[in-house]
Amino acid sequence: MRLSDDGITKLFDLLARKVCFTFAVCFFSIMGAIAAVPAAVLIWVTVPYETPFSFYRDVVLCTTLIIIAAAVHYFLYGLGRLWGKRWELGDLCLLNDHVEGSRMSNDIPTATLREISLLLEKLPGKNFRMAMLLSMPVVIIGTVQNYVFSGKSFDALYFLRGGIIAWITYIIFTYIITELSTSNLRRKTRLILADREAWEGTQHSTTLMIKFIFIIILMVTSMIITHGISTSSVIHSTIKAVIFFSVLNLVVGVFMCILVFVSILITLGEIEATATQLGDEQRARFISGSIDREFVNTATGLYRAAHKIIKYRDDLHNLNLNLEQKVKERTEQIELLSRTDPLTGCFNRGYLIENLPQEIKKAARYKRCFSLIICDLDHFKKVNDTYGHQGGDQVLKEFVQCIRGAFRGDVDWVARYGGEEFVIALPETDVDGARALAERIRQVIARRTIVAGAREIHITVSFGVTGFDAATIPERISVENLIREADRCLYRAKNEGRNRVVICRL
Ligand code: GH3
Ligand code: MG
Ligand code: MG
Repeated sequence: MRLSDDGITKLFDLLARKVCFTFAVCFFSIMGAIAAVPAAVLIWVTVPYETPFSFYRDVVLCTTLIIIAAAVHYFLYGLGRLWGKRWELGDLCLLNDHVEGSRMSNDIPTATLREISLLLEKLPGKNFRMAMLLSMPVVIIGTVQNYVFSGKSFDALYFLRGGIIAWITYIIFTYIITELSTSNLRRKTRLILADREAWEGTQHSTTLMIKFIFIIILMVTSMIITHGISTSSVIHSTIKAVIFFSVLNLVVGVFMCILVFVSILITLGEIEATATQLGDEQRARFISGSIDREFVNTATGLYRAAHKIIKYRDDLHNLNLNLEQKVKERTEQIELLSRTDPLTGCFNRGYLIENLPQEIKKAARYKRCFSLIICDLDHFKKVNDTYGHQGGDQVLKEFVQCIRGAFRGDVDWVARYGGEEFVIALPETDVDGARALAERIRQVIARRTIVAGAREIHITVSFGVTGFDAATIPERISVENLIREADRCLYRAKNEGRNRVVICRL
């Protein structure tokens, strides 16, 4: 259910389209005067008019004064627009210039729209004060003239009592009806502002309180009216008084209940829509731009809370992603470290033990050749003794670099087998190929000058090479056999004078 479907809003639309927005608002303050009818009845039944003429005189005077007040009200709010004139109060000009019917066009600059929104929020209060000021003379002048003509101060006091009650109900209804008639436009304005991310929450939550205070005032007022009617000389039937009281309170009660109920219903619906949208899209706009005035603060709070939850969820998600990434990187680092020799950067013995059997198995299964080189630095003890441990370390590093520079980096690999012994695995390489490679490395390292601090070191290396091809008897192919054979060759190389390559086939 939407307020725009109400008869009042339709009537207002019609008026607003014909004239201008605020003029239509004034029209509703006159409608508020209808609410003063019970007070007029109170005046009629409690003031002991001597002739109908004196009653009519009061009515004519009050009606005239109300018409004058209404005319002033209209002029100040923009009646002049009916004839193309602009006589309204300054800020209302702004409103009238930009409002068509109960609509607000979308192309108004944001700053102006903000001003209009503020003005719209203030409009019920403004109309309320204007109605209060302009209708006060009706009560005062009416009472004075009643006293002057009847000469009885009691009659004037009865009139004053009725006048004040009429005045109160009139301004209360003016407020509420203005509030109702502007609610659509207010929502529309907030929605446009929210669309442009320019809506700022303001303090509106007092209006619900005002409605409840109005209810209390109306209840007390209706009790006074009923009491007056039941004790009057015109109507002194208790039943009539009770019926009058009940009808009055029922009307007021139902009216107020509908107002509050509709506000709550609309608001709950919109909060729900906001929440759903937030859940789906993560960055929903603040549709509480259309939420009812009384609940704007609550809705703002909920919206902000929802936004925070989503922000925290996103932050958490990002943190998780970062954490996962870090864990992945660390795991990779640990894995790399666990299979790397820290000094030379080549694979370590652990990697060799784990991977060599697989390489051999793979080669044997697919009948591919495979070779293995074991190399050992010659007289390395002496290097250590002469150049110190750091000199020895430098030699080890550079030797690994030499190997890496010589083989195919994508298939061949080298692992540190022990102190200064290395194993080079050469998949899909036959023994001749392996011997050629070992020879190349041997020559490179033998020619190389290794610089350790201020000293120059020359070293040689001995190589034991072995391997198998498709013709090798499968039983002979095993890690142990290969290592044993390569070791045997290495031993021979050492014995035959070092700095050489010795091969043997499986
Ligand atoms: P050979 O030609 O018979 O192999 O003689 P060698 O002196 O190399 O004999 P051996 O293999 O027994 O000596 C290996 C030496 O390597 C012993 C040890 O001090 C040294 N060594 C082992 N690991 C390291 C290391 O990480 N750094 C250094 N600087 N020296 C090491
Ligand atoms: Mg050695
Ligand atoms: Mg050795």
